[in-house]
Amino acid sequence: LEKEMARLDRLNLVAQMAAGIGHEIRNPMTTVRGFLQILAAKDESIHNKNYYDLMIEELDRANSIITEFLSLAKSKVDDPKIQSLNQIIKTLYPMMEANASLGKQFLRLELGQIPDLLLGEKEIRQLLLNLVRNGLEAMTAGQTLTIKTYLDSDSVVLAVQDEGPGIESSLLEKLGTPFFTTKDQGTGLGLAICHNIAARHQAVIIVESGNQGTTFYVRFPFTPSTETKGYPKKETE
Ligand code: ADP
Ligand code: MG
Repeated sequence: LEKEMARLDRLNLVAQMAAGIGHEIRNPMTTVRGFLQILAAKDESIHNKNYYDLMIEELDRANSIITEFLSLAKSKVDDPKIQSLNQIIKTLYPMMEANASLGKQFLRLELGQIPDLLLGEKEIRQLLLNLVRNGLEAMTAGQTLTIKTYLDSDSVVLAVQDEGPGIESSLLEKLGTPFFTTKDQGTGLGLAICHNIAARHQAVIIVESGNQGTTFYVRFPFTPSTETKGYPKKETE
């Protein structure tokens, strides 16, 4: 629990920094991007055009890192609604399945009977996509990523299970620390954002990893007391 508190403190600090400087960095970047576009339009040389394109692409990449970073600064769920987690997963299926087939990988859904939950749809989509992306990036062609939902005593569980090489136990502790990445093109923000979104939903993320692969479990609390706070009884799927 102490570790968890320390991690939340770190996240809080990061969140404040994000809110403070994120916007400020964006403004000059927008200006530079605008002038680059003007120069690109005036410049006849095909050779230079490639440079302009690259510069604009890189600016856009930096911008999307800032967007991810800024989403860490939020502390409340945007527009929460009592809704079906399974439905959110189904809506995202075509996109996730397209991602999987790019790498000749498979995506399997095992959606159980679960009650509706109070969820921010955009945030749950982002959480799911980040976990799925990590799973796919950890696997090779021919392997399968499985998304499960089920009820486990007092929790609704969302599990994202891959068949990748697993995570070294020495690294497990660092997961979720902003900017921790083992990938060349990684931002190390995906899991930090997942933890943040989970916390906003009073959910926790648990990792289980071995040489058979890795499973990320997101446990949403579902107790009789939450049921009386307006959660409908078990919904059929
Ligand atoms: P990024 O994907 O940009 O590296 P993340 O925060 O999403 O950042 O993940 C941080 C690190 O956690 C990854 O670089 C990787 O080392 C490890 N990781 C996350 N998910 C998995 C997974 N399913 N299998 C193996 N390693 C993983
Ligand atoms: Mg990632």
